[in-house]
Amino acid sequence: MDSTRRDFLTMGAIAIPATMAVANAQVNIVETTPTLHTLPTLDYAYSDLEPYIDAKTMEIHHSKHHQAYVNGLNKAEEMLFKARGDGDYSLVQHWTRQLAFHGGGHALHSLFWKSMKKPVSGITPRPGGTLMVAIQNEFGSFDTFKKHFSATANSVEGGGWALLSLRTSDKRLLITQIENQQKQSYWNCIPLLAVDVWEHAYYLKYQNKRADYVEAWWNLVNWDATQQFYNQALQF
Ligand code: MN
Repeated sequence: MDSTRRDFLTMGAIAIPATMAVANAQVNIVETTPTLHTLPTLDYAYSDLEPYIDAKTMEIHHSKHHQAYVNGLNKAEEMLFKARGDGDYSLVQHWTRQLAFHGGGHALHSLFWKSMKKPVSGITPRPGGTLMVAIQNEFGSFDTFKKHFSATANSVEGGGWALLSLRTSDKRLLITQIENQQKQSYWNCIPLLAVDVWEHAYYLKYQNKRADYVEAWWNLVNWDATQQFYNQALQF
């Protein structure tokens, strides 16, 4: 599993501190320094998503916007680490908010890039296998799922996301909406598919026509990757 995906899964799951596993044992715990998060490389070129997403948008989105979330996450973790060392928690609320915003941004963008692939001309990809069966069971049909998902993306107030997730408690699929990078998070869910509807994701090409961008985005969906994430999520 690549490190990006591992970060992403860890953020969606409940991490069990190592100390809990050794309760009552005499062990020396050394606090580790925070992970240094890095910008993931893409599996395709910036121009590969043309004509649905233009190369310039991809370049700015990945190399500037996503990089800023990576930097913000590293900064927040560094400052919280420092706060513990100094015993000064006066800015803990600020840095915890930064942690959620930038950490959410890093995780969701990492999934967003994996949610897409170079399109094949004239073919709108569809899921297959067990994921298609699960989508049909949950939403009635693939077309109904698509309409529900698009409506969710189109109705985000301001910047945000639409997600298809697996709820781990009952293994059901859910469509949820995220405002900014973290608000309206539904816990106990593992995101499988993400579409970014912040204006920076589409404004150069689509201006105010977000629905046209979302409709075009379906031509890019990497259902093989989504199926793989679904298989992994079922193990939780
Ligand atoms: Mn974005």
